[in-house]
Amino acid sequence: MSAAQSTTVLRDSQFARDLPEMALPWQAAVAPEPRLLALNEALAADLGLDPAWLRSPAGLRLLVGADVPEGVTPVAQAYSGHQFGGYTPRLGDGRALLLGEVGSRDLHLKGSGRTPFARGGDGLAAVGPMLREYVVSESMAALGIPTTRALAVVATGAQVQRDTALPGAVLARVASSHLRVGSFQYAAATGDLDLVRRLADHAIARHYPAAAEAEQPYLALFDAVVTAQASLVARWMLVGFIHGVMNTDNMTISGETIDYGPCAFLDAYDPATVYSSIDHAGRYAYANQPIVAQWNLARFAETLLPLIAEDQDRAVEIAVASLGTFTTAYDAAWVAGTKAKLGLAADVDDATVTSLAQDLLAQLAQSRVDYTSFFRHLGTAARGDAEPARGLFLDLARFDAWLARWRDLAPDADAMDRANPIYIPRNHLVEEALAAATTGDLGPVERLLEAVGSPFEERLELRLYAEKAPDDFGPYQTFCGT
Ligand code: AMP
Ligand code: MG
Repeated sequence: MSAAQSTTVLRDSQFARDLPEMALPWQAAVAPEPRLLALNEALAADLGLDPAWLRSPAGLRLLVGADVPEGVTPVAQAYSGHQFGGYTPRLGDGRALLLGEVGSRDLHLKGSGRTPFARGGDGLAAVGPMLREYVVSESMAALGIPTTRALAVVATGAQVQRDTALPGAVLARVASSHLRVGSFQYAAATGDLDLVRRLADHAIARHYPAAAEAEQPYLALFDAVVTAQASLVARWMLVGFIHGVMNTDNMTISGETIDYGPCAFLDAYDPATVYSSIDHAGRYAYANQPIVAQWNLARFAETLLPLIAEDQDRAVEIAVASLGTFTTAYDAAWVAGTKAKLGLAADVDDATVTSLAQDLLAQLAQSRVDYTSFFRHLGTAARGDAEPARGLFLDLARFDAWLARWRDLAPDADAMDRANPIYIPRNHLVEEALAAATTGDLGPVERLLEAVGSPFEERLELRLYAEKAPDDFGPYQTFCGT
């Protein structure tokens, strides 16, 4: 593919055309000395972008927003949001730009300089947090969980001032869109119902075209988002993922995971786990995620009420009924995923699975068992050797009773290996890899990506990547990276 072909696959965004009130034309800041740190060659190829071209100086200029094709106007998107429960009317892309679309996907930059939405921020991002988003989002994609994808991280050559001076970077990512609950909150807050309607129509056309055919398209949109979010959060819970900052501006309409900040995977199983240093009240603790998702969807519903019914009380009644389906959809997704993790056939009774899982999770919490490796050990138990799993529990009699109940249901060990990852971005590995990358050694990030990129496929040379954190790793804390 020639350079010209590579750039012309980027087109002006449909978002900016449909919703100019919410798209502010803006340019990326100059990156003095762009240097490629990570490139997702497989994703680039999927998008019709030539990896070799992306590595060239012209490719790097695209990846930092310095050079976009004729007729393409990058924009900063406006949105609002409830942050930790408090409403902020004007958030928006303070340090990000929607460059345009490749195929049906948004190409978006993060760390590309201040925009009019930057408020007090510097508009920049450091190498560590951008590579962190790259690693964790690619891990989620490999686990089959809906997510934005990382295309590249480019060091800018500029310094970013945080607690210390850090090397700056721009992340290029793709998403099926960047529509957030907060986008609807922004539109609704303008008081312009036509804007909300256009935004909803845009969302339907992009993500839920079947809703356009429904008797009540805007209610059908809401129903579809409720289902997508319920299934998404169930998937997070099943792999032990904690998003960390589930503000309404960080929840997508598409049902993709977005905005990887202080996120992390559970080590020892504890439903109250909070890793984010700023989440003092534990609002976004592991176990709260389904409740928070539902709370966020209620904020989404509020923005759609005038489109759902003319009479407000009637609209509320309809929306509340739809929101009520979250629990059913979430439970169904969670039980189906739990069956898979336990190697049980789909026709095993749901109530049996739920009671089995509740007993197991209580025991994992009681013995502070490493969540991810436990399920692989349980696979070994399904093959006949229960000792590795038994060794993890303090109350052996209780676990043995559980094993007997589980064995009676004839678990399938091979199916368990396809449902339970060996490799996740373990907190100690992520920290080690990002620290090395910040001082210029990308080897550990590359090896970690190799591990989490095929999470179910055991490789003996990656044995260390499957092990839980060493005891001296201590309590883990994550930071927003802003
Ligand atoms: P986040 O916590 O990354 O979801 O960001 C929340 C809001 O703060 C969004 O409006 C971001 O654009 C904005 N923001 C975060 N970091 C910065 C920064 N360094 N400069 C400008 N805006 C930022
Ligand atoms: Mg955000």
